Amino acid sequence: MADLLSFRHPIAFSTAVVTLSLALLPTASTCLWGQTETVAAQPEPPTALPPQGPAEESATEEAEAELVLQFPPFELYSSFWINLHQTLIAKAMDRELPKLDCESAMDESSRAAWRSAAEIYGQKKERDYLFGTAETAAKARLALVGPRARLAGVDDIPPDQTSALASVAELYRRCGWPEHDQANRRWIAELEPHVKRHGDEIARRISRLVDRPWRAPVRVDSAVYGGSRGAYTTAFPPHVVISSVDPDYSGLAALEMLFHEGSHTFIELGAVGDAIIAAFDARGVQQPRRFWHAVLFWNSGTITRRVLVENGIEDYVPYARAQQVYRKAGWAPFRDLLDLHWAPVLDGQADLTKTMIKIADLIALERQDAEKKNSE
Ligand SMILES: [Zn+2]
Repeated sequence: MADLLSFRHPIAFSTAVVTLSLALLPTASTCLWGQTETVAAQPEPPTALPPQGPAEESATEEAEAELVLQFPPFELYSSFWINLHQTLIAKAMDRELPKLDCESAMDESSRAAWRSAAEIYGQKKERDYLFGTAETAAKARLALVGPRARLAGVDDIPPDQTSALASVAELYRRCGWPEHDQANRRWIAELEPHVKRHGDEIARRISRLVDRPWRAPVRVDSAVYGGSRGAYTTAFPPHVVISSVDPDYSGLAALEMLFHEGSHTFIELGAVGDAIIAAFDARGVQQPRRFWHAVLFWNSGTITRRVLVENGIEDYVPYARAQQVYRKAGWAPFRDLLDLHWAPVLDGQADLTKTMIKIADLIALERQDAEKKNSE
């Protein structure tokens, strides 16, 4: 991806989490994990639509029919409204979408309707749709609406967004959704044997490492547009949106990235996050920007690779190595430190907290050397 400057799949944290983090990390300023774009509070969304009579009940049933695969802690969906929402974000941000044969037959009034809807969506930035408080609540609500239900009057979705979605819903039903739904279901079907064979063990090892149970269910929406980085995750509620057509998220990489994204729903990455905060805090050293994310990439990639090797698949290269994420993000020194010092933690042969302190010391030393060189 051309815009892969640092990494994909960022995550939103709520102010509640930031507040908690600040309590744990007195030296922290305004960001969590060195992530300055931390967003405002996200209220817990409703877990079901309010009862509004038989029509709403059937809408909820229809929404449940969009559930394609359940594999704890994940529930994988191909949802009409979430896909239309993602498609409008893509159109508004001028992102490339898979070409559709039916588009060439589209008349001018249909094209104008799409342009108007995209213009409404274009009044906000992509980042707002992915991580904004109100926008996350709207997306969570949208996920509960049945594919044929009307959006009018559904709480939490702003009127202009409702009208943008409603104005092209019928057009999308005829051109776009059938192809997108097929792509999503194909992606899930290709992922299914991998999760069934390796998923339990990967889930168990990640949970053991972070010393937290999974926050189930983690809703996963496959969509033709998963954000400019291919996928994104919100922790409140646990919700992953992931591309069903990006080749970088196919095959066994889809398996790893499912668990990578899912790992973002562990608040503060559990024991690993605690160890990172404690280590840099103890040394009075500022955590390198997004160091935590390098650790997350390393953990999910290494655990996936190890499980695959144990199951006879020896040639899998973890996503961050295959896509050169460490190099592009300037994380190569962290990767080398993790390879050398963190690997024994996964084997249960080294203490997690002490090892992270050792890594923080080495990062601090490297930084001092660099500063010294710069001042000479
Ligand atoms: Zn990530």
